[in-house]
Amino acid sequence: MPVKNDSAIIQKSIYNVEKIRKDFPILQTFVHGKPLVYLDNAATTQKPRFVIDRINHYYEKINANIHRGVHALSQEATEEFESARIIIKNFINALGKNEIIFTRGTTESINLVASTFGKINVHEGDEIIISHMEHHSNIVPWQMLCKEKNAVLKVIPVNDSGELITEEFVKLISPRTKFISVVYASNSLGTVNPVKTIIDIAHQNGIPVLIDAAQAINHIPIDVQELDCDFLAFSGHKIYGPTGIGILYGKINHLEAMPPYMGGGDMISKVTFEETTYNELPHKFEAGTPDIAGAIGLGAAIEYVKKIGLDNIAAHENELLMTATESISDLKGLRIIGTSKNKIGVLSFHLENIHPHDVGTFLDFEGVAIRTGHHCTQPLMKRFGVPATSRASFGLYNTKEEVSILVNGLKKILEVFG
Ligand code: PLP
Repeated sequence: MPVKNDSAIIQKSIYNVEKIRKDFPILQTFVHGKPLVYLDNAATTQKPRFVIDRINHYYEKINANIHRGVHALSQEATEEFESARIIIKNFINALGKNEIIFTRGTTESINLVASTFGKINVHEGDEIIISHMEHHSNIVPWQMLCKEKNAVLKVIPVNDSGELITEEFVKLISPRTKFISVVYASNSLGTVNPVKTIIDIAHQNGIPVLIDAAQAINHIPIDVQELDCDFLAFSGHKIYGPTGIGILYGKINHLEAMPPYMGGGDMISKVTFEETTYNELPHKFEAGTPDIAGAIGLGAAIEYVKKIGLDNIAAHENELLMTATESISDLKGLRIIGTSKNKIGVLSFHLENIHPHDVGTFLDFEGVAIRTGHHCTQPLMKRFGVPATSRASFGLYNTKEEVSILVNGLKKILEVFG
Protein backbone atom coordinates (compact mmCIF):
# COMPACT_ATOMS: atom_id res chain seq x y z
CA MET A 1 0.00 0.00 0.00
CA PRO A 2 1.44 3.42 -0.92
CA VAL A 3 2.16 5.77 1.96
CA LYS A 4 -0.21 8.61 2.77
CA ASN A 5 2.02 11.61 3.31
CA ASP A 6 1.25 14.88 5.05
CA SER A 7 1.84 16.95 1.93
CA ALA A 8 -1.07 15.07 0.32
CA ILE A 9 -3.35 16.46 3.01
CA ILE A 10 -1.86 19.95 3.09
CA GLN A 11 -1.96 20.50 -0.66
CA LYS A 12 -5.36 18.93 -1.36
CA SER A 13 -7.37 22.08 -0.76
CA ILE A 14 -5.50 24.18 -3.33
CA TYR A 15 -5.36 21.58 -6.10
CA ASN A 16 -8.13 22.38 -8.56
CA VAL A 17 -8.23 19.37 -10.86
CA GLU A 18 -11.36 20.53 -12.73
CA LYS A 19 -9.61 23.77 -13.65
CA ILE A 20 -6.49 21.86 -14.70
CA ARG A 21 -8.55 19.52 -16.91
CA LYS A 22 -9.77 22.50 -18.93
CA ASP A 23 -6.17 23.11 -20.02
CA PHE A 24 -6.11 19.80 -21.93
CA PRO A 25 -8.26 19.88 -25.10
CA ILE A 26 -8.07 16.11 -25.64
CA LEU A 27 -9.84 15.42 -22.35
CA GLN A 28 -13.09 16.55 -24.02
CA THR A 29 -12.88 13.52 -26.35
CA PHE A 30 -15.48 10.74 -26.37
CA VAL A 31 -14.39 7.14 -27.00
CA HIS A 32 -17.06 4.61 -28.05
CA GLY A 33 -19.62 7.20 -26.94
CA LYS A 34 -18.13 7.51 -23.43
CA PRO A 35 -16.02 10.38 -22.04
CA LEU A 36 -12.33 9.56 -22.35
CA VAL A 37 -10.74 8.35 -19.09
CA TYR A 38 -7.08 8.56 -19.90
CA LEU A 39 -5.04 6.33 -17.58
CA ASP A 40 -2.10 5.59 -19.84
CA ASN A 41 0.13 8.41 -18.64
CA ALA A 42 3.20 6.23 -18.11
CA ALA A 43 3.19 5.55 -21.87
CA THR A 44 2.71 9.19 -22.77
CA THR A 45 1.00 12.19 -21.24
CA GLN A 46 -1.51 14.55 -22.85
CA LYS A 47 -0.50 18.07 -23.82
CA PRO A 48 -1.95 21.27 -22.35
CA ARG A 49 -3.13 24.08 -24.63
CA PHE A 50 -0.17 26.14 -23.35
CA VAL A 51 2.29 23.67 -24.95
CA ILE A 52 0.27 23.24 -28.15
CA ASP A 53 0.05 27.03 -28.56
CA ARG A 54 3.81 27.48 -28.12
CA ILE A 55 4.51 24.86 -30.78
CA ASN A 56 1.96 26.46 -33.13
CA HIS A 57 3.46 29.88 -32.45
CA TYR A 58 6.88 28.60 -33.49
CA TYR A 59 5.57 27.22 -36.80
CA GLU A 60 3.23 30.13 -37.51
CA LYS A 61 5.48 33.03 -36.54
CA ILE A 62 9.17 32.16 -36.17
CA ASN A 63 9.95 28.97 -38.09
CA ALA A 64 13.61 29.12 -39.15
CA ASN A 65 16.70 27.01 -38.64
CA ILE A 66 18.75 27.88 -35.59
CA HIS A 67 22.36 28.82 -34.75
CA ARG A 68 23.38 29.58 -38.34
CA GLY A 69 21.28 32.53 -39.43
CA VAL A 70 21.79 36.27 -39.16
CA HIS A 71 18.20 37.02 -40.16
CA ALA A 72 15.58 37.97 -37.59
CA LEU A 73 13.55 34.75 -37.66
CA SER A 74 16.62 32.56 -37.21
CA GLN A 75 17.75 34.66 -34.28
CA GLU A 76 14.34 34.51 -32.65
CA ALA A 77 14.09 30.73 -33.17
CA THR A 78 17.60 30.32 -31.71
CA GLU A 79 16.67 32.44 -28.72
CA GLU A 80 13.53 30.37 -28.00
CA PHE A 81 15.43 27.09 -28.45
CA GLU A 82 18.25 28.16 -26.12
CA SER A 83 15.76 29.60 -23.60
CA ALA A 84 14.17 26.15 -23.42
CA ARG A 85 17.59 24.72 -22.58
CA ILE A 86 17.89 27.16 -19.67
CA ILE A 87 14.38 26.31 -18.42
CA ILE A 88 15.41 22.63 -18.37
CA LYS A 89 18.77 23.40 -16.74
CA ASN A 90 16.98 25.28 -13.95
CA PHE A 91 14.30 22.60 -13.59
CA ILE A 92 16.85 19.89 -12.74
CA ASN A 93 19.35 22.33 -11.23
CA ALA A 94 22.24 21.48 -13.53
CA LEU A 95 25.39 23.50 -12.96
CA GLY A 96 25.43 24.91 -16.48
CA LYS A 97 23.39 24.92 -19.69
CA ASN A 98 26.23 23.14 -21.47
CA GLU A 99 25.33 20.03 -19.46
CA ILE A 100 21.90 19.86 -21.13
CA ILE A 101 21.91 17.94 -24.42
CA PHE A 102 18.77 17.77 -26.56
CA THR A 103 18.09 14.25 -27.82
CA ARG A 104 15.05 12.45 -29.22
CA GLY A 105 14.21 10.99 -25.82
CA THR A 106 15.35 8.74 -22.99
CA THR A 107 16.23 5.92 -25.39
CA GLU A 108 18.55 8.07 -27.45
CA SER A 109 20.10 9.64 -24.34
CA ILE A 110 21.03 6.23 -22.91
CA ASN A 111 22.32 5.00 -26.28
CA LEU A 112 24.45 8.14 -26.53
CA VAL A 113 26.14 7.41 -23.20
CA ALA A 114 26.58 3.69 -23.90
CA SER A 115 28.11 4.44 -27.31
CA THR A 116 30.44 7.26 -26.33
CA PHE A 117 31.28 6.98 -22.62
CA GLY A 118 31.18 3.18 -23.01
CA LYS A 119 33.42 3.31 -26.04
CA ILE A 120 36.32 4.87 -24.15
CA ASN A 121 35.78 3.51 -20.63
CA VAL A 122 34.56 -0.10 -20.95
CA HIS A 123 36.99 -2.83 -21.96
CA GLU A 124 37.17 -6.61 -22.12
CA GLY A 125 36.25 -8.23 -18.79
CA ASP A 126 34.78 -5.02 -17.34
CA GLU A 127 31.35 -5.04 -15.74
CA ILE A 128 28.23 -2.90 -16.03
CA ILE A 129 25.41 -3.03 -13.47
CA ILE A 130 21.75 -2.45 -14.27
CA SER A 131 18.63 -3.71 -12.45
CA HIS A 132 15.96 -6.32 -13.05
CA MET A 133 13.27 -3.64 -13.39
CA GLU A 134 14.84 -1.72 -16.28
CA HIS A 135 12.94 -0.68 -19.40
CA HIS A 136 14.40 -2.29 -22.53
CA SER A 137 15.92 1.15 -23.27
CA ASN A 138 18.17 0.71 -20.27
CA ILE A 139 19.02 -2.93 -20.98
CA VAL A 140 19.67 -3.29 -24.70
CA PRO A 141 22.22 -0.45 -25.19
CA TRP A 142 24.35 -1.91 -22.35
CA GLN A 143 23.93 -5.43 -23.66
CA MET A 144 25.09 -4.25 -27.10
CA LEU A 145 28.09 -2.53 -25.53
CA CYS A 146 28.96 -5.64 -23.50
CA LYS A 147 28.79 -7.80 -26.64
CA GLU A 148 31.03 -5.42 -28.55
CA LYS A 149 33.57 -5.12 -25.73
CA ASN A 150 33.33 -8.60 -24.30
CA ALA A 151 32.21 -7.09 -21.02
CA VAL A 152 29.77 -8.49 -18.45
CA LEU A 153 26.26 -7.25 -17.66
CA LYS A 154 25.22 -7.73 -14.01
CA VAL A 155 21.67 -7.34 -12.75
CA ILE A 156 20.45 -6.10 -9.33
CA PRO A 157 17.61 -8.44 -8.26
CA VAL A 158 14.13 -7.34 -7.28
CA ASN A 159 12.13 -8.65 -4.27
CA ASP A 160 8.49 -9.83 -4.35
CA SER A 161 7.22 -6.32 -3.62
CA GLY A 162 9.07 -5.04 -6.66
CA GLU A 163 11.90 -3.28 -4.82
CA LEU A 164 15.59 -3.44 -5.58
CA ILE A 165 17.53 -5.59 -3.11
CA THR A 166 20.17 -3.08 -2.06
CA GLU A 167 22.31 -5.64 -0.17
CA GLU A 168 22.60 -7.67 -3.37
CA PHE A 169 23.54 -4.53 -5.30
CA VAL A 170 26.50 -3.96 -3.00
CA LYS A 171 27.66 -7.55 -3.58
CA LEU A 172 27.63 -7.06 -7.37
CA ILE A 173 30.20 -4.25 -7.23
CA SER A 174 33.73 -5.34 -8.07
CA PRO A 175 36.98 -3.64 -9.11
CA ARG A 176 35.88 -4.34 -12.72
CA THR A 177 32.59 -2.40 -12.39
CA LYS A 178 32.82 0.51 -14.83
CA PHE A 179 29.27 1.82 -14.94
CA ILE A 180 25.88 1.62 -13.21
CA SER A 181 22.62 2.51 -14.94
CA VAL A 182 19.34 2.33 -13.02
CA VAL A 183 15.80 3.55 -13.30
CA TYR A 184 14.54 6.15 -10.81
CA ALA A 185 10.88 5.04 -10.98
CA SER A 186 9.71 1.83 -12.65
CA ASN A 187 7.21 2.18 -15.49
CA SER A 188 5.83 -1.33 -14.82
CA LEU A 189 5.74 -1.42 -11.01
CA GLY A 190 5.70 2.23 -9.99
CA THR A 191 8.53 1.58 -7.50
CA VAL A 192 10.66 4.60 -6.65
CA ASN A 193 14.22 3.39 -6.22
CA PRO A 194 16.70 4.69 -3.60
CA VAL A 195 18.85 6.26 -6.29
CA LYS A 196 20.69 8.62 -3.95
CA THR A 197 21.91 5.62 -1.92
CA ILE A 198 22.91 3.79 -5.11
CA ILE A 199 24.82 6.83 -6.37
CA ASP A 200 26.61 7.33 -3.03
CA ILE A 201 27.67 3.67 -2.85
CA ALA A 202 28.78 3.76 -6.50
CA HIS A 203 30.84 6.90 -5.97
CA GLN A 204 32.52 5.43 -2.88
CA ASN A 205 33.77 2.82 -5.36
CA GLY A 206 34.64 5.36 -8.06
CA ILE A 207 31.85 4.22 -10.40
CA PRO A 208 29.76 6.67 -12.47
CA VAL A 209 25.95 6.36 -12.52
CA LEU A 210 23.23 7.10 -15.07
CA ILE A 211 19.68 7.61 -13.84
CA ASP A 212 16.80 6.80 -16.18
CA ALA A 213 14.33 9.47 -15.08
CA ALA A 214 11.74 8.81 -17.82
CA GLN A 215 9.02 8.13 -15.24
CA ALA A 216 10.40 10.21 -12.38
CA ILE A 217 10.66 13.56 -14.15
CA ASN A 218 6.93 14.39 -13.91
CA HIS A 219 6.41 13.09 -10.36
CA ILE A 220 9.57 13.74 -8.34
CA PRO A 221 11.49 17.03 -8.03
CA ILE A 222 15.01 16.30 -9.30
CA ASP A 223 18.15 18.20 -8.36
CA VAL A 224 21.05 16.64 -10.26
CA GLN A 225 23.64 18.40 -8.12
CA GLU A 226 22.10 17.09 -4.92
CA LEU A 227 21.66 13.61 -6.39
CA ASP A 228 25.20 13.86 -7.74
CA CYS A 229 24.33 11.54 -10.66
CA ASP A 230 26.79 11.52 -13.54
CA PHE A 231 24.09 11.31 -16.21
CA LEU A 232 20.31 11.63 -16.22
CA ALA A 233 17.95 10.88 -19.10
CA PHE A 234 14.30 11.76 -19.70
CA SER A 235 11.72 12.26 -22.47
CA GLY A 236 9.59 15.32 -23.16
CA HIS A 237 6.41 13.37 -23.86
CA LYS A 238 6.25 11.94 -20.33
CA ILE A 239 6.07 15.42 -18.82
CA TYR A 240 3.21 16.88 -20.87
CA GLY A 241 5.58 17.94 -23.66
CA PRO A 242 5.93 16.77 -27.26
CA THR A 243 7.20 13.44 -28.56
CA GLY A 244 10.55 13.23 -30.34
CA ILE A 245 12.42 15.43 -27.85
CA GLY A 246 14.29 14.47 -24.70
CA ILE A 247 17.24 15.35 -22.54
CA LEU A 248 20.57 13.94 -21.59
CA TYR A 249 22.09 15.66 -18.58
CA GLY A 250 25.78 14.89 -18.08
CA LYS A 251 28.43 16.26 -15.75
CA ILE A 252 30.60 18.60 -17.74
CA ASN A 253 33.85 16.67 -17.15
CA HIS A 254 32.30 13.49 -18.58
CA LEU A 255 30.76 15.26 -21.58
CA GLU A 256 34.03 16.97 -22.38
CA ALA A 257 35.96 13.69 -22.32
CA MET A 258 33.42 11.78 -24.43
CA PRO A 259 33.77 11.53 -28.22
CA PRO A 260 30.82 12.77 -30.32
CA TYR A 261 27.87 10.45 -30.90
CA MET A 262 26.89 11.47 -34.44
CA GLY A 263 28.73 13.49 -37.02
CA GLY A 264 27.21 16.28 -39.12
CA GLY A 265 26.20 19.91 -39.06
CA ASP A 266 26.26 21.98 -35.87
CA MET A 267 28.53 19.57 -33.96
CA ILE A 268 31.66 20.76 -35.75
CA SER A 269 34.02 23.65 -35.22
CA LYS A 270 36.08 23.23 -38.42
CA VAL A 271 35.98 20.65 -41.20
CA THR A 272 38.63 19.82 -43.76
CA PHE A 273 38.93 16.56 -45.69
CA GLU A 274 41.90 15.72 -43.52
CA GLU A 275 40.43 16.48 -40.12
CA THR A 276 37.45 17.80 -38.20
CA THR A 277 37.46 19.63 -34.90
CA TYR A 278 34.34 19.53 -32.80
CA ASN A 279 32.06 22.25 -31.52
CA GLU A 280 31.92 23.17 -27.84
CA LEU A 281 29.31 21.70 -25.52
CA PRO A 282 26.43 21.12 -25.75
CA HIS A 283 26.53 21.34 -29.56
CA LYS A 284 29.17 18.58 -29.84
CA PHE A 285 26.35 16.12 -29.17
CA GLU A 286 23.65 17.82 -31.25
CA ALA A 287 24.44 16.93 -34.86
CA GLY A 288 21.98 18.07 -37.51
CA THR A 289 18.86 20.20 -37.30
CA PRO A 290 17.20 19.38 -33.98
CA ASP A 291 13.50 19.22 -33.18
CA ILE A 292 13.29 22.97 -32.60
CA ALA A 293 9.54 23.06 -32.02
CA GLY A 294 9.90 20.04 -29.73
CA ALA A 295 12.51 21.76 -27.58
CA ILE A 296 10.37 24.89 -27.31
CA GLY A 297 7.36 22.71 -26.48
CA LEU A 298 9.32 20.89 -23.78
CA GLY A 299 10.37 24.21 -22.25
CA ALA A 300 6.70 25.26 -22.21
CA ALA A 301 5.65 21.94 -20.65
CA ILE A 302 8.14 22.41 -17.83
CA GLU A 303 6.92 25.97 -17.24
CA TYR A 304 3.38 24.58 -17.06
CA VAL A 305 4.30 21.83 -14.59
CA LYS A 306 6.30 24.25 -12.44
CA LYS A 307 3.29 26.53 -12.19
CA ILE A 308 1.18 23.75 -10.69
CA GLY A 309 4.12 22.46 -8.66
CA LEU A 310 5.60 18.97 -8.76
CA ASP A 311 4.92 18.48 -5.04
CA ASN A 312 1.23 19.27 -5.57
CA ILE A 313 1.08 16.95 -8.59
CA ALA A 314 2.78 14.13 -6.68
CA ALA A 315 0.41 14.56 -3.73
CA HIS A 316 -2.63 14.48 -6.03
CA GLU A 317 -1.43 11.39 -7.89
CA ASN A 318 -0.53 9.66 -4.63
CA GLU A 319 -4.10 10.12 -3.45
CA LEU A 320 -5.46 8.62 -6.69
CA LEU A 321 -3.04 5.71 -6.36
CA MET A 322 -4.11 5.04 -2.77
CA THR A 323 -7.81 5.20 -3.65
CA ALA A 324 -7.36 2.89 -6.66
CA THR A 325 -5.13 0.46 -4.73
CA GLU A 326 -7.61 0.26 -1.86
CA SER A 327 -10.56 -0.21 -4.22
CA ILE A 328 -9.07 -3.08 -6.23
CA SER A 329 -7.14 -4.84 -3.44
CA ASP A 330 -10.02 -7.16 -2.52
CA LEU A 331 -11.23 -7.94 -6.06
CA LYS A 332 -11.22 -11.71 -6.42
CA GLY A 333 -8.41 -13.10 -8.55
CA LEU A 334 -6.69 -9.71 -8.89
CA ARG A 335 -3.00 -9.54 -8.05
CA ILE A 336 -1.20 -6.22 -7.83
CA ILE A 337 2.28 -6.41 -9.33
CA GLY A 338 4.46 -3.87 -7.52
CA THR A 339 3.53 -3.29 -3.90
CA SER A 340 6.38 -1.12 -2.73
CA LYS A 341 5.57 1.54 -0.12
CA ASN A 342 7.24 4.17 -2.24
CA LYS A 343 5.51 4.40 -5.61
CA ILE A 344 4.61 6.89 -8.32
CA GLY A 345 1.06 6.75 -9.69
CA VAL A 346 1.42 3.44 -11.51
CA LEU A 347 -0.88 0.52 -10.73
CA SER A 348 -0.05 -2.77 -12.47
CA PHE A 349 -2.20 -5.81 -11.92
CA HIS A 350 -3.02 -9.24 -13.26
CA LEU A 351 -6.45 -10.86 -13.28
CA GLU A 352 -6.38 -14.60 -12.86
CA ASN A 353 -7.37 -16.48 -16.06
CA ILE A 354 -8.14 -13.27 -17.96
CA HIS A 355 -5.68 -12.07 -20.57
CA PRO A 356 -4.60 -8.44 -20.05
CA HIS A 357 -5.51 -7.65 -23.66
CA ASP A 358 -9.12 -8.66 -22.92
CA VAL A 359 -9.04 -6.36 -19.90
CA GLY A 360 -7.70 -3.50 -22.04
CA THR A 361 -10.24 -4.05 -24.82
CA PHE A 362 -13.17 -4.30 -22.39
CA LEU A 363 -12.14 -1.10 -20.60
CA ASP A 364 -11.65 0.68 -23.91
CA PHE A 365 -15.37 0.18 -24.61
CA GLU A 366 -16.00 1.96 -21.29
CA GLY A 367 -13.89 4.86 -22.54
CA VAL A 368 -10.99 3.91 -20.26
CA ALA A 369 -7.49 3.91 -21.76
CA ILE A 370 -5.04 1.73 -19.87
CA ARG A 371 -1.96 -0.12 -21.16
CA THR A 372 -1.69 -3.88 -21.34
CA GLY A 373 1.42 -5.83 -22.28
CA HIS A 374 4.97 -6.24 -21.07
CA HIS A 375 5.60 -2.46 -20.93
CA CYS A 376 9.05 -2.97 -22.52
CA THR A 377 10.17 -4.84 -19.39
CA GLN A 378 10.10 -8.48 -20.47
CA PRO A 379 12.70 -9.69 -17.91
CA LEU A 380 10.60 -8.13 -15.14
CA MET A 381 7.42 -9.87 -16.37
CA LYS A 382 9.33 -13.15 -16.26
CA ARG A 383 10.48 -12.37 -12.69
CA PHE A 384 6.82 -12.03 -11.60
CA GLY A 385 5.71 -15.06 -13.63
CA VAL A 386 3.27 -13.19 -15.86
CA PRO A 387 3.38 -12.64 -19.64
CA ALA A 388 1.93 -9.16 -19.29
CA THR A 389 0.08 -6.89 -16.88
CA SER A 390 -2.72 -4.34 -17.09
CA ARG A 391 -1.44 -0.95 -16.03
CA ALA A 392 -3.34 2.16 -15.01
CA SER A 393 -1.10 5.19 -14.61
CA PHE A 394 -2.23 8.52 -13.23
CA GLY A 395 -1.46 12.04 -14.38
CA LEU A 396 -2.05 15.49 -12.98
CA TYR A 397 -5.51 15.75 -14.60
CA ASN A 398 -7.01 12.45 -13.40
CA THR A 399 -9.83 12.41 -10.88
CA LYS A 400 -11.31 10.15 -8.22
CA GLU A 401 -14.40 9.78 -10.44
CA GLU A 402 -12.15 8.33 -13.13
CA VAL A 403 -10.71 5.89 -10.59
CA SER A 404 -14.30 4.78 -9.84
CA ILE A 405 -15.00 4.26 -13.56
CA LEU A 406 -11.87 2.08 -13.78
CA VAL A 407 -12.82 0.06 -10.71
CA ASN A 408 -16.42 -0.43 -11.90
CA GLY A 409 -15.07 -1.54 -15.28
CA LEU A 410 -12.88 -4.14 -13.57
CA LYS A 411 -15.85 -5.39 -11.54
CA LYS A 412 -17.84 -5.82 -14.76
CA ILE A 413 -14.93 -7.73 -16.33
CA LEU A 414 -14.86 -10.08 -13.36
CA GLU A 415 -18.61 -10.64 -13.71
CA VAL A 416 -18.35 -11.36 -17.45
CA PHE A 417 -15.16 -13.41 -17.52
CA GLY A 418 -15.00 -14.64 -13.93
N1 PLP B 1 12.73 4.26 -19.46
C1 PLP B 1 11.54 4.17 -18.84
C2 PLP B 1 11.48 3.88 -17.38
C3 PLP B 1 10.37 4.36 -19.57
O1 PLP B 1 9.19 4.27 -18.96
C4 PLP B 1 10.47 4.64 -20.96
C5 PLP B 1 9.24 4.77 -21.76
O2 PLP B 1 8.20 4.24 -21.44
C6 PLP B 1 11.73 4.73 -21.54
C7 PLP B 1 12.84 4.53 -20.76
C8 PLP B 1 11.89 5.05 -22.98
O3 PLP B 1 11.42 6.34 -23.27
P1 PLP B 1 11.32 6.84 -24.78
O4 PLP B 1 10.56 5.79 -25.53
O5 PLP B 1 10.58 8.13 -24.66
O6 PLP B 1 12.71 7.00 -25.28
